[in-house]
Amino acid sequence: MGAKLSYNWMTEAGMKRDEKLVPMPAEGRRRSGRVQEDRIIDPYKHIQKLPEPSFCRQCGAVYHAGRWQWSPQPSGAHDVLCQACHRINDKYPAGVVTLTGSSAAANSVELTRIARHQEASEKQDHPLNRIINIEENADGIVINTTDIHLPVRIGKAIHRAFRGKLDEHFDEAGYFVRVNWHRDD
Ligand SMILES: [Zn+2]
Repeated sequence: MGAKLSYNWMTEAGMKRDEKLVPMPAEGRRRSGRVQEDRIIDPYKHIQKLPEPSFCRQCGAVYHAGRWQWSPQPSGAHDVLCQACHRINDKYPAGVVTLTGSSAAANSVELTRIARHQEASEKQDHPLNRIINIEENADGIVINTTDIHLPVRIGKAIHRAFRGKLDEHFDEAGYFVRVNWHRDD
């Protein structure tokens, strides 16, 4: 941990594969009328349905009744690593929010606070939707997340508070979203 995230490896290395990862879904697969969360498959999601109950040995989230939730660890729960912790360990974000412009620099504390607040709220019901880290560099603020929903939520909240220009770019085949917010005063 502590190493700077670089996105070059995402294009250079492509999707990392090991026995825990599901191959990327073929184009057009699973487009039928499922809820949004199921429309795009996270390649980090376990191939087989997890046994129930399971718990993540790293974050303590519990998989029960078909979903991840925060609850006390049930006795006899299976010891697993959730896909959010897997991505955190691999430094492999599913979403990236980039905040640029003079307003980003001038309001970094408030923008970071908004992002953390949205994460806290999202995470209550969706334990696997989290911020991996927030970096500030010369270009602006970069927020890396474990999922593709939190970046959109953060982008919208920042846009509501600060206006500016907001763009979202989904890469469905790769389970990846890039949200860019920009404002110059
Ligand atoms: Zn976990």
